[in-house]
Amino acid sequence: MTMKSDFYIISLDELTAEGEEINCTLDDHDLQKRSNGVLLGGSISCKALAKKTGDLFHVHLLIDGNVQVPCDRCLSPVNMEINHDGDIYVSVGNDPHDEDDRHFIEVTSNDKSLDLYDLIYSNVELCLPFRRLHKPGECDAAMIAELERYQSDGNDNKKNDANIDPRWAALASLKN
Ligand SMILES: [Zn+2]
Repeated sequence: MTMKSDFYIISLDELTAEGEEINCTLDDHDLQKRSNGVLLGGSISCKALAKKTGDLFHVHLLIDGNVQVPCDRCLSPVNMEINHDGDIYVSVGNDPHDEDDRHFIEVTSNDKSLDLYDLIYSNVELCLPFRRLHKPGECDAAMIAELERYQSDGNDNKKNDANIDPRWAALASLKN
């Protein structure tokens, strides 16, 4: 096992049938960095049990915590609770499993390792709802007024509201 501030690498060669339990946390810094701006921050704790089962490796992941993402309506941070309890199977080399199956990961025999933080991050992302919104009345009123002003620029009637996907607007604002 190797632990640096931004990585937690599981070496598959070191895993036994009995397995190894790993407890770790991801803070604002880790989540922002891993998500490339999709997550604004948060605090996630994870318990992973990794073991060898025959030719495969099995990781049971328990993830618990909160993340902040931009609200689809007002773009201000909205808190999302994250609870995940799931299994991941890892095979080395030629793998008969469908690549689209997110419960299976294939690694090459040259690099028999897993980055636990990557696993946690991808599962946190899968926990997020498609629509990420504040509860009614909790949006940032000043931001909404600003967005409405922006959206009505260049088009006096507001028919084109639907053309601006707030998620693109959120991405654009993160790049600035
Ligand atoms: Zn909002």
